[in-house]
Amino acid sequence: MKIVFATGNKNKLKEIIGIMEGTGYEIVTAADAGYLTDPEENGSSFEENALIKARAVYELSDKRSVIMADDSGLCIDALDGEPGIHSARFMGHDTSYDIKNGELLKRLEGVAEKDRTARFVCAVAAILPSGKVITVRETMEGRIAYEICGTNGFGYDPIFYLPEFGRTSAEISPGSKNLISHRGKALRHMRAVLEEETS
Ligand code: IMP
Repeated sequence: MKIVFATGNKNKLKEIIGIMEGTGYEIVTAADAGYLTDPEENGSSFEENALIKARAVYELSDKRSVIMADDSGLCIDALDGEPGIHSARFMGHDTSYDIKNGELLKRLEGVAEKDRTARFVCAVAAILPSGKVITVRETMEGRIAYEICGTNGFGYDPIFYLPEFGRTSAEISPGSKNLISHRGKALRHMRAVLEEETS
């Protein structure tokens, strides 16, 4: 059985291949399977947006594979959960993350450490050949740092401080991050649910 993952992001693909190892599933991207879609992500939750991406591929598919997609973002409590589902488009898709991260730090100026709580959220949606929908959600909890720090990772990692590491998620190794990240946890959760479904 195949899992068709609706992403063009090679890093996500590598991560899911690693996590699904041993399940017997072959992992391919939607583009590699010949299903080209670019739906508008206009849902009002991470789950809805993940499902929009998965459903667009499912409609084109031969209904013999599991179709999967994820949606993720950074939710900052002091900003009422923003940028949240707007994380990728915050200040425009083409704006650099140095600028986006700088702007978020500016908006948090004067906010005390205890109120700088934030989390990365990842929802993963799967549509089985039967049409059954499964969604899971996991988070990585942390705080917004006082300055941009670290060069690993991507996006908002340089301002996301992990108290248990005493570093930002851009300062820890990719391997360490995969073990604790919202996406790693959500994909492992989805693996467990899929294994249960097909056992
Ligand atoms: P999407 O899930 O591919 O739509 O991306 C959501 C956006 O959330 C990314 O473009 C990043 O801005 C942000 N994001 C999600 N996960 C992470 C992460 O692990 N580190 C840093 N930024 C992230």
